Amino acid sequence: MLPQSAMPPAGAATAASHVPEVSGPGEELLLMLFPRLRGLRILLVEDTEEAVAIRACCRAACARCPSCGVVSARIHGAYARVVADGAAGGRPVLIILAVRRFRCPDRSCAKATFAEQAEDLSVRYRRHSVPLLGMLAAFGLELGGRAGARLAGFTTSGYYPGAISECTYQGKQYCYPIGTNSVGLFYNKAMFAAAHLQPPTTWAELQADAKKLTKAPVYGIAFDATADEQSTWQLEPFFWSAGASLTNVTTPPFQSALQLWVNMVKDGSASKSVLNWGQDPDLTQQFMQGHAAMIVDGPWIFPELNQKGWTYNKEYGIVPIPTDKPGQTVVAPLGGETMDMGTGGSTEQQKLAWEWVQGMQQPDVMEHVTSLMYYLPTKPAVTEQVLKGGPEYTVFAKETQTARPRTTEYGANYPKVSQAIWTAIQAAITGTSSVSSALQTAQGTISGVQQVSGG
Ligand SMILES: [Zn+2]
Repeated sequence: MLPQSAMPPAGAATAASHVPEVSGPGEELLLMLFPRLRGLRILLVEDTEEAVAIRACCRAACARCPSCGVVSARIHGAYARVVADGAAGGRPVLIILAVRRFRCPDRSCAKATFAEQAEDLSVRYRRHSVPLLGMLAAFGLELGGRAGARLAGFTTSGYYPGAISECTYQGKQYCYPIGTNSVGLFYNKAMFAAAHLQPPTTWAELQADAKKLTKAPVYGIAFDATADEQSTWQLEPFFWSAGASLTNVTTPPFQSALQLWVNMVKDGSASKSVLNWGQDPDLTQQFMQGHAAMIVDGPWIFPELNQKGWTYNKEYGIVPIPTDKPGQTVVAPLGGETMDMGTGGSTEQQKLAWEWVQGMQQPDVMEHVTSLMYYLPTKPAVTEQVLKGGPEYTVFAKETQTARPRTTEYGANYPKVSQAIWTAIQAAITGTSSVSSALQTAQGTISGVQQVSGG
């Protein structure tokens, strides 16, 4: 039996919603349809007009600390995590997971609290592994055949240049971009209004605003400085916009970008926990609980903000990542998903797959699929349509025009470069190295990584 704190919040079930209780056979049926939920307890299914929401939580009463391995049953809190999981009858299916935080019983452990992994839910529902294939398969049945039938050919024109170059290797195109995303600066409108502040456009303003907005229990800003690619990805818009590159991380603009992050932690405007906070759900939770006035994050958090009832330009705003000097172009990293066709299968299967890929490029199909996945379309013309109904995507749409794929210089070797950078980020923020010596060490590694000509 789960403690009450692990139960999901009552949520936004409206009078119009249909909320059936989930019985044993009903649960089995849902597990057949959504196999990623296996191992979880399904609480209820909510049918709103626009979406189907399935509420679920973990079955286990305790969880193992990922740092020291000790099992804990001491619940520190719980939050709901909303993830997209395909579609049913043309409507998005949202999984609302109750995720518990446990307190590590080992006092010497570096992790005071940790979120349960729910048989690796974070892997099942990681941002980069949104169950794209399953979702696309569902749409293939529904839209792909029809859309594919009215197509003649495919062209790479009409796309954001970065989205096409991300699919290109040594002059050849290997896949097609289905959706993109990037990071922006989310800010709490009420906190800014109360402090009589405008959202920052430069690093100096960012640092000053963060400081002014910091008042326990609120930190001015939170970002992701974890020991993985996500922290490199979050620092990229800062150093790329300042003119630095991945090939030389010891240049002054690169050092200044990392120094900015270090300064905000040093002066208390950002919590030291940024070393452990992933961009989702950790940063999202800090933001929604009012513990961070600003966060660096992306459109994948929209379902959680929506679920909480937060509206763009009401509870929160989004501005581009501030630049070092006023008016610099924001060069953000390009995220998203691409589709490629394997070389296996029969001629007939290949032909169908190709028709289907073509169908997915159609403006109406692209608009529908990307909206379900909280991505931006990869064609500016389609994006224009999306912005009419979704102004919260405005900043990301603007950034996409000048966004840079992460693999331009190093191709498949990019993860080695990224690791060198996030290692430097961690060393500089913990204070075990100065910014310059951490980046010298990173450069030592990067200099030994082979560059691969991408686009
Ligand atoms: Zn521990």
